[in-house]
Amino acid sequence: MDERVARLQSRILAETGTSDGEISWVRVPGRVNLIGDHTDYNERFVLPMAIDRDCLIASVRRGDDRVRATSLELETSVEVASDGSADPRAVDPVWGRFIAGAVQALTVRGARVPGLELVLSSTVPLGAGLSSSSALSVGAVLALADAAGLAPPPLDIARIALDAEVRATGVPGGLMDQLTALHGRADHALLIDCRSNAIEPLPLPRALSVIAIHSGMERTLAASAYAQRRAACEEAATALGLRALRDASLDAVRDNPIARHVVSENARVLEFADALRSGDTNALGRLMLSSHASLRDDFAVSTPELDLLVELAVECGAYGARLTGAGFGGCIVALAQRNHADDVAAKVALRYRAASRHEPVVFSVRAVDGAGIPS
Ligand code: ADP
Ligand code: MG
Repeated sequence: MDERVARLQSRILAETGTSDGEISWVRVPGRVNLIGDHTDYNERFVLPMAIDRDCLIASVRRGDDRVRATSLELETSVEVASDGSADPRAVDPVWGRFIAGAVQALTVRGARVPGLELVLSSTVPLGAGLSSSSALSVGAVLALADAAGLAPPPLDIARIALDAEVRATGVPGGLMDQLTALHGRADHALLIDCRSNAIEPLPLPRALSVIAIHSGMERTLAASAYAQRRAACEEAATALGLRALRDASLDAVRDNPIARHVVSENARVLEFADALRSGDTNALGRLMLSSHASLRDDFAVSTPELDLLVELAVECGAYGARLTGAGFGGCIVALAQRNHADDVAAKVALRYRAASRHEPVVFSVRAVDGAGIPS
């Protein structure tokens, strides 16, 4: 038995005080976005993949009407009423807001959530830009919906989990993270149209490895800057008389760097998808670098540390690299030849540590299937 499964199993039986309660399981992966940052809420294209780091949740029915959750990472528990009456923003510890958000997102839609004990453990790094929050909220929604006797289609699950996250944090995100967590496919990236929510899995070239490297910098400004950029995009769309920047031409946004990033980034996502289809590795790298330049110069969400990591990745032999997960700290993502990926990552980490005095963390990631029951 997987070591994490064993730990969760003994913990949930201890929490419920039973020796053999019937345990339900759900596993939800994090994600890394290969290209297409800040395009999702403009109803344009993104190209993420689900990664082999996930949130695993065990659940057992309780005899009362409480939903209680324990995180093995944070070593705390949270307990809320199962009728959704708890205000998620008032829940403490803060991570419990995702659980309260999930309960409320379901109950406002008419679900009758029963009392449930949850114990969870995640290998997605928290707060790194690899979407540990969506792995947690999609997992919580799946576990709670199942206990309520519901099996909503994936798009509904994604919307409910997004609603849970918005209730928890107040940050209005797009659907990319949730859709990727649900629809990921092994060895594929996903081209997602964020208007129609159509998803096209695209095989990743076998000779390529994907590396995420954390800058060692917390994404402190990310939430407020995200909301501000999002508002700027909506303003730009309204000024052009459009529902969303999806419909803007590059000509129309030439003098607005924020909108220009969104429009040029979208074109890059589609070119990246073409390059995946034709196996043009050099084009993949070039597009990642121009995406990073646009996020740095036009959208202004990079940091000197992320710029340095991207530069070093290329100098150390990656095909390309870019900041990922919205910016302001967190991770870059790089593409490297599979045989050299470990070497590239080690060299980047060494040089980054020396030049920045921050501690990088390397994650070699593989594309995996979306949420499911662990085997
Ligand atoms: P990201 O989604 O990029 O990892 P966020 O700031 O959006 O970063 O979400 C991180 C938050 O999600 C954590 O601070 C915590 O509140 C919650 N979270 C994620 N995974 C866990 C976990 N295993 N246990 C408790 N809370 C978690
Ligand atoms: Mg998140």
